[in-house]
Amino acid sequence: MIEREQIEMDVVFVGAGPANLAAALHLKNQIKVHNDLIDRGLPGHKVGDLEIAIVEKGPFVGAHILSGAVMDPIAIRELMPDFLEQGCPVDTVVTDDEAWYLTDTKSITAPITPPPLKNKGKYIISLSKMCEWLGEKCEEAGINIFPDFPATEVLYNDANQVIGIRTGDKGIGKDGERKPNFEPGVDLLAKITVLGEGSRGSLAKQLMSRLGLMEDKEPQVFSLGVKELWELPAGNFPEGKVVHTLGFPSDTETYGGGWLYGMKNNVLSIGYVTGLDYKDPMIDPHAEFQKFKTHPEVAKILAGGKMIKYGAKSINTGGYWTMPKLYADGVMLVGDSASFLNGQRIKGIHTAMKSGMLAADTIILAFASNDFTSETLHHYHESVRMSWIHDELFPVRNFHAAFQRGRWSALVNSGLQYITGGLAWGFMPHEYHVAGHRRMEQIDGSASPAVTGGAVDRKQTGDGRESQAADAGSSSVGPFYHLNHAERYEDLKFDKQLTFDKITDVYHAGVSHDEDQPSHLHVLDTEICATRCTEEYGNPCQRFCPAAVYEMEANPQTGRRELKVNFSNCVHCKTCDIADPYQIINWVPPEGGGGPNYKGM
Ligand SMILES: Cc1cc2nc3c(=O)[nH]c(=O)nc-3n(C[C@H](O)[C@H](O)[C@H](O)COP(=O)(O)OP(=O)(O)OC[C@H]3O[C@@H](n4cnc5c(N)ncnc54)[C@H](O)[C@@H]3O)c2cc1C
Repeated sequence: MIEREQIEMDVVFVGAGPANLAAALHLKNQIKVHNDLIDRGLPGHKVGDLEIAIVEKGPFVGAHILSGAVMDPIAIRELMPDFLEQGCPVDTVVTDDEAWYLTDTKSITAPITPPPLKNKGKYIISLSKMCEWLGEKCEEAGINIFPDFPATEVLYNDANQVIGIRTGDKGIGKDGERKPNFEPGVDLLAKITVLGEGSRGSLAKQLMSRLGLMEDKEPQVFSLGVKELWELPAGNFPEGKVVHTLGFPSDTETYGGGWLYGMKNNVLSIGYVTGLDYKDPMIDPHAEFQKFKTHPEVAKILAGGKMIKYGAKSINTGGYWTMPKLYADGVMLVGDSASFLNGQRIKGIHTAMKSGMLAADTIILAFASNDFTSETLHHYHESVRMSWIHDELFPVRNFHAAFQRGRWSALVNSGLQYITGGLAWGFMPHEYHVAGHRRMEQIDGSASPAVTGGAVDRKQTGDGRESQAADAGSSSVGPFYHLNHAERYEDLKFDKQLTFDKITDVYHAGVSHDEDQPSHLHVLDTEICATRCTEEYGNPCQRFCPAAVYEMEANPQTGRRELKVNFSNCVHCKTCDIADPYQIINWVPPEGGGGPNYKGM
């Protein structure tokens, strides 16, 4: 039994992303406003100076933050109307935006940029830099920030109420034994715990499962964003220009699209998003991105440039229908952890920040009434419903579902949804796909309550048999699932100038993990990998992981290929936890400080 220090706080925020940083800062600011109102006669009780902590698994605030990013300033303006005067490190203002449809060789610019992709006047930012700055603002306001502190467990009392979190132990060797520098994690006890861990939060996953927060909700749908920063020769791409693309290299069955954002000093943010609900298990989102860069129009922009940084991160694109219950006794969920991202605009910074600020308003109410149960915390749900978040997310509630019937249906459907405020034929079915497999589990691993859509043609699902047939070169498979990995990316050569293999890219993500620690990627049954998964899906972990973490390696003793996990490459995108067909990969935070270094991304 390990003796752990217990530290009592009032509020603990897990994750120093835009959601929680905005939440903590707004909380500090609004306590003063609330108490002034009481002084002026508003009925109610004052709130004392709260002890607030933010724990962050990265070694500094911003280290694990990866985004595009074009920021809609609506939320930061509410948080801090003079954010520019206060030094918010925006990179540049968007002055021009375009939408391109890419065929294999040509690009067609949409005559009118679709309204959701209009960005003029918004800001291109490095979200990592912005979070670093917001972190400083929080510290100036007296908020305690603990970097290097991954939260590994939610703590509950006997009544199943959340009473805080436990941080990870440090100094355990890969053999599971304590090293001389062993330090047990601490228990941070709090009246309210706020989870803002971003997409596929590891504590949020535990919490949703234990408290059933996804009951009656649609299962989450994720995408993977793969990004590089490039330094370009002057004149290749204008500062302030924003381009979004559709088409090449995604097939018409796969949700995907690219971006090019022109930053200051001839730096370009370029990336590609692939829906992890793809049907062909041979898809490799990293390779899709590399292929995107080989398009003649894109390659022309990158010519003579140099890649300077790389990163990848999952995005929860399910939207409104996939939002969990936002609170339970002693706990609230904010930002991407609670599916606040607008998938149509691929924007979640402003909604994450606003959700945090609304959570903070409810926290004040809770302390004023000395009640931290759902009785008071449900006000958070009400205030989200009454805010502009609801006005923004509800009309696009069916956006991602529209893509389940392919790109052309999606384009027509999205147009209809735009005109009708969200009505169309695309409702999120209970049955969905993840990385080539038909998935029918909820987030807690239980069977889905209902499977709509009737019998599914196995060929159309890209399920195991087809991929096996595909590997054998069979021609009897569906139109999109007949290629093996090499064929799908046959033209893709990693020349290390325009295109990069995963290992080279990972080097540019600045990843580091102490190798003498247990792997933080818990594969619960490696026998499945060497048998069923090889046969049924051709081990898609080797492809969906954008950091070459998973490898099938020949074992001369058993005469078969077995799983090798290079956990030290992990960029914390969480794709494996999401996309593994058997749901046997559990991503947990590694020892504090390990992971990518996305400074400036
Ligand atoms: C490739 C890509 C491009 C995007 N482009 C845009 C864009 O152009 N515009 C836009 O508005 N949005 C964009 N988004 C979405 C946007 O980045 C997110 O919606 C937003 O960052 C969500 O904020 P968050 O605070 O909820 O989570 P995050 O930004 O993910 O922050 C979560 C933080 O919590 C930490 N954390 C996680 N788990 C733990 C734990 N257990 N213990 C301690 N710390 C933990 C993480 O290290 C991280 O620092 C993009 C996202 C991606 C991935």
